[in-house]
Formats: sequence, structure tokens, C-alpha cells
Amino acid sequence: MSYRSPVADILFSLKAVARLPEAIRSGLHGDLDWDTVASVVAEAGRFATDEIAPLNRAGDIAGARYENGGVTMPAGFGDVYRRWAEAGWGGVSAPAEFGGMGLPHLVNVACTEIWNGASMAFALCPLLTEGAAGALKAFGSRELLDAYLGPMVAGRWSGTMNLTEPQAGSDLNAVKTRAERAEDGTYRLFGQKIFITYGEHDMADNIVHLVLARLPDAPPGTRGLSLFLAPKYIANPDGSLGERNDLRCAGIEHKLGIHASPTCVMIYGESRGAKAWLVGEENRGLAAMFVMMNAARLGVGTQGVAIGERAYQQALAFARDRRQGRGPKGGEAMSPIIEHADVQRMLMTMKANVQAARGICHLTAAALDLANHGRTGEERAAGANRAALLTPIAKAFSTDVGDEATSLGVQIHGGMGFIEETGAAQHMRDSRIAAIYEGANGVQAIDLVQRKLALAGGETVGSEIAGIRQVVSDVAERGGLGFGATAARLNEAASALEEATRAMLRWLASDQQSALAGASQYLRLFGLALGGACLARAGLAAQALAESGDKSELARVGLARFFAEKLALAAPGLGAAIASGAAPLQSYETILADSA
Ligand SMILES: Cc1cc2nc3c(=O)[nH]c(=O)nc-3n(C[C@H](O)[C@H](O)[C@H](O)COP(=O)(O)OP(=O)(O)OC[C@H]3O[C@@H](n4cnc5c(N)ncnc54)[C@H](O)[C@@H]3O)c2cc1C
Repeated sequence: MSYRSPVADILFSLKAVARLPEAIRSGLHGDLDWDTVASVVAEAGRFATDEIAPLNRAGDIAGARYENGGVTMPAGFGDVYRRWAEAGWGGVSAPAEFGGMGLPHLVNVACTEIWNGASMAFALCPLLTEGAAGALKAFGSRELLDAYLGPMVAGRWSGTMNLTEPQAGSDLNAVKTRAERAEDGTYRLFGQKIFITYGEHDMADNIVHLVLARLPDAPPGTRGLSLFLAPKYIANPDGSLGERNDLRCAGIEHKLGIHASPTCVMIYGESRGAKAWLVGEENRGLAAMFVMMNAARLGVGTQGVAIGERAYQQALAFARDRRQGRGPKGGEAMSPIIEHADVQRMLMTMKANVQAARGICHLTAAALDLANHGRTGEERAAGANRAALLTPIAKAFSTDVGDEATSLGVQIHGGMGFIEETGAAQHMRDSRIAAIYEGANGVQAIDLVQRKLALAGGETVGSEIAGIRQVVSDVAERGGLGFGATAARLNEAASALEEATRAMLRWLASDQQSALAGASQYLRLFGLALGGACLARAGLAAQALAESGDKSELARVGLARFFAEKLALAAPGLGAAIASGAAPLQSYETILADSA
């Protein structure tokens, strides 16, 4: 079976978990109706399945190629990208004023998953462009918006994010790229950036780089960073391409995965300096960059969902086909391996984790929509705080389970999983970067604990846990026998989360090391409790449909039960690990000392 975009599952999650139809009915999205959402997502799924997905394997084999400052994309990428852009997919949630469709961010996230499931290497170009366009829209001057935003939304020009330098990865305090003020009010950039996704390629006519750099009189650290726009070609007033800027790609990386996504070394200002325009205010670049990074973090979380789903579909098809040993149904012939309980466990783990992570990503996007379109200031603030709390979980939980799913996908294929021609290995190689870039997952966990738990005096996290408890009581009250011990296990997960949250808030004031030591486990615990609640919500919606005569979705009840009874029950163990604080790490120097 070849890959198909999971349109039905995505739509079900938008309805039952993120409750988009309710938001539409409440008037949050103007005159949008559900049928429009459903047809946009279905059309994205058709385009991705038919046009993008076939590029995935060929792109992995051919890879992007560098020569003399240029990057040639694998065959077919440019054509499909052009048709994708002409169909308007670059502007799903961009405002109509700049040529976008003006749809909710939730619909955009649904499409992001669809593009990435088809080819993560292809979808990185739109992902970075969207992030750059978002920061430009939020902080750019009117002149910059008029000159650059329209072509970016139209996909004719692509965008990049330039943060990383050899000495400045997770820690942007160390950024050295220099900006100088020019007499005409523009700036000149000098420096080197590394690992810049789609920094150079031949799919778009122009590339708009957003670059973090430091002015000569800037304060040290991140407080001295400013954000600049430096295009490959400077736009003429009539919108045509003008002078070639003083910036170039000096090479691309040879990587474990996403071979068709060019990861570029960029050199700015080898002679007169790369001409650049300030985005936002001087020395306030990090705030602007955060707009871009937050959107991109949710996008990267969505990549974890997408690639996990693709690996699941492939493993399921293989497990139905491959015969080895005898399953419980017996008989003379060998059984398809899907009849073995351990293979069922692996497939169910893949599916349950992917759908839980999808739910979390959808809740995050719905919160962003509330932050942008809420009717009252209070509603918008609550939406913004919820999105801020959930973004690190959406990013790190989803990419971790994406990695686990792709690894299980290889395992299910047995030895053939380790052989490149099945394609299972490509998913594992491609997915691995998502837990690293856009802020390594350990850094996401620190962000969650150090910055997000205290939001609104702890009210934001409190209301998230109350929401999980509400789902628990709904399952306890209304859930049928098919839910098994779902309510009990999710209740334990919610209690473990509540207790760990109290410990974290205490430690933040008195014992930072204990908070940091448990941060990643805390994020996982949060993902398990919230992901379990997402699946239980979907299960309840499926049960309600069945009660009205449509039993087609009932398998969702069993999936919620599997997640609660087999995966979320790790929550109390994680809670205990968090409770032991930093003490077990204290003698790390002795334990990790070389014993040779
Ligand atoms: C394929 C690819 C594409 C990329 N695309 C872009 C791009 O488009 N634009 C861009 O600017 N950058 C990009 N990057 C860079 C990427 O964002 C960085 O690699 C990432 O932020 C990690 O930085 P680093 O590699 O320097 O790792 P380091 O910062 O050296 O970290 C190494 C490890 O140490 C741990 N760690 C580091 N700091 C802490 C801390 N404070 N607390 C706890 N643990 C910590 C983490 O586990 C981390 O994985 C890309 C990288 C790759 C490989």
C-alpha cells in the first residue's frame, strides 16, 4: 500500500479534539463554514498524496546538489513546488490583504501535517517561508510588507531563518554576525550562518533571509540582537527583481536524513556588506524571532506527527503482508506478522502516539487562533498563554513520539527495515532532526518548566490540568465498556501531573537544579496526560456517533483505551522520577569518569 494523507483522521481531530466546528459556530472565524474547511483539507490531501509523496524517495536518493554557490534540487521538486504555490497553498492562513486564504491557523497546521507526511524535505521550504512571513507581518515596516510579503505568501519567493552560527546553537547569546548602519537608513550585514534550511535552492525566484545580527553599540547577549531582512535579490519598487545582494551559499551539509532539503552555510558581506532592513526595533530582534520560532516550533511538532503517521501506514501494510511463525489463529501456513501480539503492540503504539500528538498540536493551534481572533482581551490573553504553555509540549512530545514511531516502523520490517530499499529507514533518518532543530527537545522542556508554568500566576497550567480532569469525569460518566480502565488510568496521570507541577513550582523558587533535572520527564508526563485526554475526547465523540447509528469511528474508543492502559500509565513512574529531583545526578562526575 502506498502512502495516503490521513485526511479523515485529521478532520476527526479538528472536530472532536480541537472543536473547530464550535469555534466556527461561535463566530470566531467570521463567515467560515465547516464544509469549506473539510474541502480545503481534502484537496490538500489529494495534492500531497498524488503530487508530493512520489518525490519523497527519489529526493532522498538524489539529494540537493551544490555547485558554485548554487543548489540544484532533485528532479521534480521545482515543478511540484510551482504547482503547489500556484494553487495558493503558500497562504492558507495568511491574510487576504496579502493574497492569502485567511483560514484559521488550525487549518494551516492540518495542511502542514499533510505536506510533511508526503515529503518532509519538500515541506521544509514552505515551513520556513511561513515562519519568516509571520515575523515580517508582525514586525516589518509597511514598505517591507509591501515589497516582500505578497510574493512570499504566493510562494514565488521563499524565506529562511538565520539564527545559528558555529559557536551559537542553542545559546544565541553567542551570535556574532555584525550589522552596521548605512547612511540611507538601511544596514549592512557581515558574518557567517550555518545550518540554514533552504538558504539557497532553485525552486523560487528569490530568497528572503531573516537574519539575527548585532549592532556595534548593542548590549551583550540576546538583549543586543536585532532582526534584519536581507534578500538574495533586492526588490525593485515595481516588484521586479533588482540587484544581487552581497550574500551567498558557501556549501551544503551531508546529512543523516532530509537529503532533499538543502542545509546551507551562508556568508553575508564578503565585500560591501549584505544590504538589509531592520525588522522591528534595534536590539529587540529576539522578540521578533520568537514569533517566527513559536510558529515554527508547532510546525516542527507537526512534522513529528506527519512522519510518524507515514511510518505507521507503511509498517501496517508490511505487517499484513509479511508471513512468519504461527499466530493464535493457528493453521498450517505461516501467519501474517500482524497476528503476533508484539507486532500489534508496536502498531498500536505508533498509531496511538501519533494521534495523541496530533491532538496536542491541534489544541495548540486552536489556542493560537483564540489568541489572534478572540473577542475580548481576556479571551485573547488566555489563548496566548495556552498556546505558550502547549507549544514546547507540541514540539517535543510530538517529535519524540515521531522518532519512536519511525524506529518501531523499522523494527516491524525486521531485517528489511534496515535495508534502504523498503523506505522504512528513510523515515527514521528524516525524523531524527525534528527533536534537535527549532530548539532541542531538552531546551523545550526547560522552557516549559522555567517560563511557562508560572504564566498567569500558574492559572494557565492549572486550567489545562482541570481540562484533563474534565475529560476523565466525562469518560467515567458516559464512557461505555469499550473504554476499559481509561478513566482510572488518565485520572492517575492527571494526579501525577498535578503533583509534579506543584513540585516544579516549588523548586523554581528554591532548587533550580531539581527543576531542570526533571524537566524532560515532566514534559513527557504532560504529553501523556494531555495526549490521553485528546484520544479520550475523540473516543467519546466516536461513541456518540455510534449511539446515533454511525459505528464507523468506534475503533477510536479502543485506541483511547490502549493509550490509557498501555502508555499513559507510565505517568506515575515519571512523577516519581521527577520527585527525586537532582539528587541522583549529583555524583555524575564520578559515575561518568573514564574507567580505562
Ligand atoms: C538539518 C538542520 C537544519 C537546520 N535549520 C536551521 C535553520 O533553518 N536556521 C537556523 O538558524 N538553524 C538551523 N539549524 C540549527 C539548529 O537549530 C541547531 O542545530 C539547534 O538549535 C541545536 O544547536 P547546536 O547544534 O549548536 O547544538 P548545541 O547547542 O551544541 O546542543 C547540543 C545538545 O546539548 C543539549 N543542550 C544544549 N544547551 C542546553 C541547555 N541550555 N540545557 C540543556 N541541554 C542543552 C541539547 O540536548 C542539544 O541537543 C538546523 C540544523 C540542522 C541539523
